[in-house]
Amino acid sequence: MESFLTLTWMVAGVLFISSLRGLGHQETARRGNGFGIVGMALAIVALLASGKVANLELLVPALVGGAVVGGVMAQRVAMTSMPELVAILHSFVGLAAVLVGFAAYLDPPDGQGNKVHDVEIWIDVLIGAITFTGSIVAFLKLRGSVSGKPLLLPGRHMLNLVVILASLGLVVPFAQAEGTSGIIYLVIMSVLAGLQGIHLVAAIGGADMPVVVSMLNSYSGWTASAAGFMLDNNLLIITGALVGSSGAILSYIMCKAMNRSLLSVIFGGFGADPKPGSAGPAVVHEGEPIATNLDELVEELSEAREVIVVPGYGMAVARAQHAVRQLVDVLKAKGCNTRFAIHPVAGRLPGHMNVLLAEASVPYDIVLEMDEINADFPKTDVVLVIGANDIVNPGAQTDASSPIYGMPVLEVWKAKRVVVLKRSRSVGYAGVDNPLFYEQNTRMFYADAKDGMEKVVAGLQK
Ligand code: NDP
Repeated sequence: MESFLTLTWMVAGVLFISSLRGLGHQETARRGNGFGIVGMALAIVALLASGKVANLELLVPALVGGAVVGGVMAQRVAMTSMPELVAILHSFVGLAAVLVGFAAYLDPPDGQGNKVHDVEIWIDVLIGAITFTGSIVAFLKLRGSVSGKPLLLPGRHMLNLVVILASLGLVVPFAQAEGTSGIIYLVIMSVLAGLQGIHLVAAIGGADMPVVVSMLNSYSGWTASAAGFMLDNNLLIITGALVGSSGAILSYIMCKAMNRSLLSVIFGGFGADPKPGSAGPAVVHEGEPIATNLDELVEELSEAREVIVVPGYGMAVARAQHAVRQLVDVLKAKGCNTRFAIHPVAGRLPGHMNVLLAEASVPYDIVLEMDEINADFPKTDVVLVIGANDIVNPGAQTDASSPIYGMPVLEVWKAKRVVVLKRSRSVGYAGVDNPLFYEQNTRMFYADAKDGMEKVVAGLQK
């Protein structure tokens, strides 16, 4: 049975690695997802069949119940609320790790604990508690239930240091305690780590939340890996390490895309204080944005040879991707080279725009990343910004007082004409005004993204 399980773990591990590989490209993402599902199903069935699991009569209903709740949640969730769902799921991983850690201490799997086992429990509960509470704060921030503004307590780095040292130091009396009498240290550390999780995520501003979500994803992986050591389960170690390292790599990529330091995300708002002299007064805009209308826009698009579409969160909310796809078809038929420019944090989750455009069957080869297309804006006739705001904000380059200052953005203002399609002049996720709207070559087309796009397509087809 042992070798059967080892073999199954290896096969499942290979399927998980293939899954990650597949998820790396749009063309292979579905297949990658399939590998992950098969790997996980295999692991669960093999474990249940191994005879190693006690209380099957309790476990199976819990598994079925969990699967049904998860399935319904995933069906119902709007694409734009996905980051919240991911954040709350991470909190479940953290909570599970804490509960399993306590159970493993009070009732060790092999009947007797030892010092190494105690340290494994400690690490598992420590990361689990930080992940649990940090993910709940992230969930509340993403939902808008608590303010997205960073909570910058005075002396917070010292506070973090003291709490983390205390959490680590308490492992000594815990491991020295006889029997289960060290439980009190485990409880104290869990409370400290839970507070630490709240404090770390509360210190991070709204615009940096994408990185926090992927960082918490990474933490949840490391928690699972620590649980694998604690429970002597190789598959959990492998899976946790895969999630932990891929989450860490994604966080690094997103930090680079947003020009943030990874340390500032790990240590909650490290370097978030304004540097003396760097932040001037907020930039004030003179005049009014110039509005355009349907006829003007249709005419400009009809004459354009080079068009770049920049989709953002508004396209996702309005579910305008199918109308956008039709626009591409019509423009192509008129001989206009039409491409998409995708910012790494456009929308509300990594890859959000790519998923929506793939759903609308937009060909992958015209969907380009920021670095691939940023240099092409000056030779573009019309840039159509659809429901995007922060990712095209020139203030990120020029306004040191802006919370998104330093974040690389799509330099759409360099095109001959920029048309911004949104319902009003209101701000985006980061809550900052956008000087792009006031540029001389910018025209505002006020409409709902889907409705507006459908009218433009109809106008072009006339
Ligand atoms: P923004 O949130 O900056 O702007 C979206 C704009 O869409 C709004 O200004 C809104 O203007 C407009 N809009 C909303 N609904 C509609 C509609 N029905 N039709 C037309 N327009 C609409 O989005 P971006 O994509 O530009 O930037 C993403 C932001 O989200 C960044 O700040 C990023 O840091 C953050 N973020 C990203 C995550 C990720 O992983 N990608 C996760 C969490 C946050 P109006 O109301 O006037 O229509």
